[in-house]
Formats: sequence, structure tokens, C-alpha cells
Amino acid sequence: MLKIKKKCLHVFIILLASANLIAELSGDPGELYPLKLNKNIDTYLIIENQGSSYALIPLPFDKQGQSIKFNGQVININKKDFGESRITITNTSMVNLSEEDSIRASKEFKIINKALNTHTTNYRPELNFIKPVEGIISSRYGKKRYINGSPRSPHLSLDIAAPAGTDIIAPEYGKVILIGDFFYAGKYIILDHGYGLLSSYSHLSKIDVTNDQFIEKGQKLGEVGSSGRVTGPHLHWTVYLNKTRINPESLIEEKFLEGLL
Ligand SMILES: [Zn+2]
Repeated sequence: MLKIKKKCLHVFIILLASANLIAELSGDPGELYPLKLNKNIDTYLIIENQGSSYALIPLPFDKQGQSIKFNGQVININKKDFGESRITITNTSMVNLSEEDSIRASKEFKIINKALNTHTTNYRPELNFIKPVEGIISSRYGKKRYINGSPRSPHLSLDIAAPAGTDIIAPEYGKVILIGDFFYAGKYIILDHGYGLLSSYSHLSKIDVTNDQFIEKGQKLGEVGSSGRVTGPHLHWTVYLNKTRINPESLIEEKFLEGLL
């Protein structure tokens, strides 16, 4: 009798374990995973739905095939083939940097990185992004990059090609936390949308905002250009959540938030 009971218990444990496997949490690299919470975390980007709270967890591109842990829960990050992009930059001084340019680029990297560490909780993003520029998508998020045949870091941004002078608008309310004219990014803006959500705009021909300015959704930021390292006029648009670069194209999808839950 006791033997049978033991056996039943074993089967029960195995069943529980396999149910747990089926219930494993997973998502694609570059996307946001809505993780259901038991209690609110004040500083984290949270959305509410039908009385439940969900923390939006960015799934890093470079953790494909691995997992991340948040609040004791494990989220697996799927492997995904994003394709590749090969570009040619004829101005070789932009690829093989002189010592002077190299010093400049590393100084600018520090300035940009400092700004990207900004985390404010004074306002909360709506997560109802609009397209920052009308144009043609010329390079998507996640593409393996080759410049003049040599492998480079993956392209974790969205490129939208448009004629120089096309208006760039803010996709969401935010504050300008950095403007500058940088070696790689050219004329450049970073917006802080609150709770660790930031967005940046590179290669502009003209900047129409100033540092510390609050920007309404739809307000003009500047114009498309070819400043910095580019092959032609386009907007290189990057979105960060807690310093992880996420897929901007997902954010401009219609009913993005509803799609998450
Ligand atoms: Zn780009």
C-alpha cells in the first residue's frame, strides 16, 4: 500500500515538473516581456491590466539562447535569425580611424554612455509611440553588420531613409537630455521618456531642440541628414529600456501594448 502511494507521489512530482517546463517564460531578443508581478516595484516600468501589474523586461539581443532572471523568475531568450546587412563606406578614414578621431570617438562614447544611464521617475511613458519620420525602412533591428566586408557589431537600431530635410518628430513625450555633433552619430539627440525608456536620433542635418527641453509627442526634433558616419541620408533611431537596446519597430506597431498582454 505504502509502495503504491510512493509511486503515485513520484508520478505527481514528474507531472508537476513537466507542467513547469511547459509554463517556461520566453521571448524574442529585442522585445519586451510583460512579467506578472505580485507587488509593485516603484522604479520599474510597469503596466496595469485587469487588476494585475506587469513589469516590462527588455530581452537583450546578446543573450540569445540564454536566460535572464528578474524578481526570482527566469525568462528564456529565443534564438532568432535577423539576417545581415553589408554596407560600403568609401571614406576609409571613417572606418580605420586616425589617432585623433579615435580619441574623439572614445570621449564621445563616454558622454553618450553617461546620458544613457539617466533614469527618472518624474513622468511615465505611455508606450504609444508614433513613427518619428516618414520614410522607407532601410535597415532593421538585429542585422549582422559588415562594413567594407569586415564584421562589426550588430545593428540594434532602426534605419529609416528619407530625403535630407525631412522632419523628425518625437514619437512620445520626453525630455532632451543630450544634443551634440559626434564622430559616428553626427548631429544627435537623446530623449528621456521616463522609467529608463530613452530614444536617440542620429545623422540629423539640423537640430531644432535644446538641452533640458520638454518635448510633446509629435513635436519636431530636427531634420534628416547625413552627418556622422553614413552611406546616405537617413534616421538611425535607437530605443533603450534600462540601457538595453530594444526593437524600435515593435514600439510603433499598432496596439503595441495590447499585443504584449
Ligand atoms: Zn542605423
